[in-house]
Amino acid sequence: MFETLSDRLTTVFSSLRGKGRLSEEDINATAREIRLALLEADVALPVVREFIAQIKERARGEEVAKALNPAQQVIKIVNEELVEILGGQTREIRFAKNPPTVIMLAGLQGAGKTTLAGKLAKWLGAQRNTPLLVAADLQRPNAVTQLQVMGQRASVPVFAPQPGNGVGDPVEVARESIEHARRNNHNIVIIDTAGRLGVDSELMRQAADIRDAVTPDEILFVVDAMIGQDAVNTAQAFLDGVGYDAVALTKLDGDARGGAALSIRHITGRPIMFASTGEKLEDFDLFHPDRMASRILD
Ligand code: GDP
Repeated sequence: MFETLSDRLTTVFSSLRGKGRLSEEDINATAREIRLALLEADVALPVVREFIAQIKERARGEEVAKALNPAQQVIKIVNEELVEILGGQTREIRFAKNPPTVIMLAGLQGAGKTTLAGKLAKWLGAQRNTPLLVAADLQRPNAVTQLQVMGQRASVPVFAPQPGNGVGDPVEVARESIEHARRNNHNIVIIDTAGRLGVDSELMRQAADIRDAVTPDEILFVVDAMIGQDAVNTAQAFLDGVGYDAVALTKLDGDARGGAALSIRHITGRPIMFASTGEKLEDFDLFHPDRMASRILD
């Protein structure tokens, strides 16, 4: 994960080590190298600009001038700024006062929504919740079956349209699932919605209709981190089209660069809540900005 950026930053810092005081030239050279490292990592330009401005300002300040080890202090500053750009604190789920808490997943096809639904269900179930998975992706022929497989693996029931009742209306399924959850004491409902290969207005409309029908407590935008800048563009399109409270980043295990993780919060103003790091249901956790920053600087 983020190997390229990690390597580049290690090189930048190694040229700083051993310097007793940092000259303006040292600071500028370091800022230049960090900038290149971020751009190479596919971080969005406005994020890079803001990040570098912060680093420069702080590196010129007293905390570095007075430090016994200025290079170490610069690394500490970069670490703190990385944590900040990644969202600062871990964002926990906001549970509804009156159950069920409704969590809706939205995103492009292949982003990892169905897998994430299973992961989230298992993770919540392990914390003494009684989640219900809802198959509101009725677009893809085997999406319902795929969610049912996830449900089995997570030991969580799945609410789906009855076979023989036609394709079904995803808005209706979502609406009915809330009633079903109430009757069967499920305290959390996780709704998997349909995705398309690209952003389109029909997809947005359907997601918005489901949103309006069930008024979710949390809308999670699920996005594949490996698509880099495209993740940021899609994130913006979904923000405008559907709106969401937080982001779930998937496929971080295959993301050598880190551009999406480092850009998405700053560009959308929405925190990254979950990190998905593999195909197994266990490859999943809350997103911890501090741990991620440490990994990058390791
Ligand atoms: P959906 O169309 O958004 O529901 O996406 P799926 O959940 O079907 O996932 C698409 C593909 O990505 C599947 O082959 C998943 O196994 C795979 N996948 C999902 N999450 C991850 C992840 O975190 N890491 C990796 N390596 N693969 C993942």
